Amino acid sequence: LTRLRARLSKSANPFGKALFAILTKDNLSETDWEDIEDTLILADVGTDASEQIVDELRADARVNSSKTPAEVRATLRRMLLEQVGEDTDRSLAAERDDARHPSVIIMVGVNGTGKTTTAGKLARLFVAEGKSVVLGAADTFRAAAADQLETWGSHVGVPVVRADHDGADPASVAFDAAQKAIDADADVLIIDTAGRLQNKANLMDELGKIRRVVEKKLPVDEVLLVLDATTGQNGMVQAKVFSEAIGVTGVALTKLDGSAKGGIVISVQKELGVPVKLVGLGEGPDDLAPFDPAGFVDGILG
Ligand code: GDP
Repeated sequence: LTRLRARLSKSANPFGKALFAILTKDNLSETDWEDIEDTLILADVGTDASEQIVDELRADARVNSSKTPAEVRATLRRMLLEQVGEDTDRSLAAERDDARHPSVIIMVGVNGTGKTTTAGKLARLFVAEGKSVVLGAADTFRAAAADQLETWGSHVGVPVVRADHDGADPASVAFDAAQKAIDADADVLIIDTAGRLQNKANLMDELGKIRRVVEKKLPVDEVLLVLDATTGQNGMVQAKVFSEAIGVTGVALTKLDGSAKGGIVISVQKELGVPVKLVGLGEGPDDLAPFDPAGFVDGILG
């Protein structure tokens, strides 16, 4: 987590620093308050949450007009933690003591967001915890996606169930993967899916079918939406489409290493009503971590 903090601070710094610089001025003008709100919105905090934070900061400034930088920092930290949801349960079902075996995770999201990579990294995290994993390559549209997942599988040392021919039914691959996970008595089954948003109706049907078919064998504990942090508010629009189609239980926010817009964490949670559970901080196998709210906020504040 220390490493996560250090790396988040690199990516998220600009926005916290800018806020702090304004808030520690002697007398805040109307323009300063607008600048604070703009800074939050530019960092993808979302308009509602930004307004709420500014209102609270203003109320706080009225009560206590002259404050030390340390006090300002503490107030800002408390407010951001509140927005991020410090006490939210972000555990994955598979990690809980009463986890089902196999515990099923379906990965969904638009192509290019990092879905396959995140599935591979997640398998690696579970294996590191001593859990056995089966990967299912239900993105049968792109053969490269299954190849990529297979590479992860051999790297991490877990079996990958894939289609035996091009254009196979993704739901049948998911079904086979569920059977394999049962036969192998695996702890976790992670199913990678396709994400072609240009054919929205088909994609949504496909995801619904994958879910229904898997549920003939095993309950689905977790649907993780993979979102690319660098796509900002565009990503939010996609996110809503997926969450309406398949009932998302958590978000894996990728490419946070390449974004100064960490505020997306706040808007994602507010708008989807589900927590960010994982963050992607790079392309390497170790670059996935459970989301740590305190580390994240400290990163934002620099
Ligand atoms: P998919 O189409 O959603 O399955 O996306 P991929 O898993 O193929 O990932 C697309 C690209 O994003 C690849 O080049 C990944 O290495 C890269 N990627 C995935 N996660 C991260 C991340 O957290 N940080 C960075 N910088 N790159 C990432």
